[in-house]
Amino acid sequence: MCCEALPHIRAIAPYVPGKPIAELAREFGLNEANIVKLASNENPLGVSPKARAAVAAALDDLALYPDGNGFALKQALSARLGVGAEQIVLGNGSNDVLELAARVFLAPGRSAVFAEHAFAVYPLAIAACNATPIQVPACNFGHDLTAMRTAIRADTAMVFIANPNNPTGTLLSNAALADFLASVPTRVCVVLDEAYTEFLDTPSDALAWLARYPNLIVTRTFSKAYGLAGLRVGYALASVEVADLINRLRQPFNVNSLALLAAEAALDDADFLAQSKQVNAEGRTQLVAGFKRLKLETIPSAGNFICVKVGATAEAAQTVYQALLRRGVIVRPVGNYGLHGYLRVSIGLLHQNARLLAALGEVLS
Ligand SMILES: *Cc1c(COP(=O)(O)O)cnc(C)c1O
Repeated sequence: MCCEALPHIRAIAPYVPGKPIAELAREFGLNEANIVKLASNENPLGVSPKARAAVAAALDDLALYPDGNGFALKQALSARLGVGAEQIVLGNGSNDVLELAARVFLAPGRSAVFAEHAFAVYPLAIAACNATPIQVPACNFGHDLTAMRTAIRADTAMVFIANPNNPTGTLLSNAALADFLASVPTRVCVVLDEAYTEFLDTPSDALAWLARYPNLIVTRTFSKAYGLAGLRVGYALASVEVADLINRLRQPFNVNSLALLAAEAALDDADFLAQSKQVNAEGRTQLVAGFKRLKLETIPSAGNFICVKVGATAEAAQTVYQALLRRGVIVRPVGNYGLHGYLRVSIGLLHQNARLLAALGEVLS
């Protein structure tokens, strides 16, 4: 064993990302062009044309450091969302701001509450701070806010909520969230992760709640509906005080210059956003109907992905996952989320969804 690594770091189970297309092509000798990846909730339409043009126009400036304050993007977000620029923290993906927020509030001797089947980054961020994780059993695969409220202890400093949640796609009602926020002691920081909010017909009242709850942090991302996962840019919205604290921990240049420009342009590309939402809604209908034809159970999803039950155990799901890989289709096993027997399928273009359904039909017959 090398060095005196901290035991709580050694105990962290690494995050398992979706298998990259190039890796599958290498492993199975497949042609990359024939591989369908529905494994990382990426935008199947690719990148917004406006964002693409902004990146292309900025390539000659790569010798320069980015604007460490992200002035232009914050101004654009501020105008769009109606929150002050000083309430915004920009991150290298929203993953970055989730971790930074955890480091502001968590340490040994403090605990953080999150739900069973919730996004894997929460327990990772809690573990990295050597704080105590409190995982609250899910209710119908979704967050049980009543139980989460009850789970808050004297040493609890944070609660993580994903809405919709990944990987389950479960959605909480506005009323339930409002009640929860009203009931939580203000000393407890509530993170409301809205990575998929752009796909909702009715977004939450999160922006209004920000004005009322100084302990609320809302996180969002350009990785999903805006199609910029590869550039890494997301943000947190919070009270001026909390945003200032998170900003102190931020690396001075945590968001790169291309990401800043692309995000600003994407924010302005209403057509692309509308198209992303529509393609997702159509794909969701197609996949739900397809899974039903195959007599497979699904968890109703509000996101750009669907969990489908393909077997009785995690091992059975793993076998189906492997068989799909051999057919050039990458999805995501979610046994590590306690969703045994399920696979998570990101919603793709119609022909990609059809490929997945056909391959799944073959594998299960
Ligand atoms: C994808 C995702 C994120 C963050 O993605 P970034 O690419 O880091 O912005 C955050 N929360 C949830 C629930 C997600 O699914």
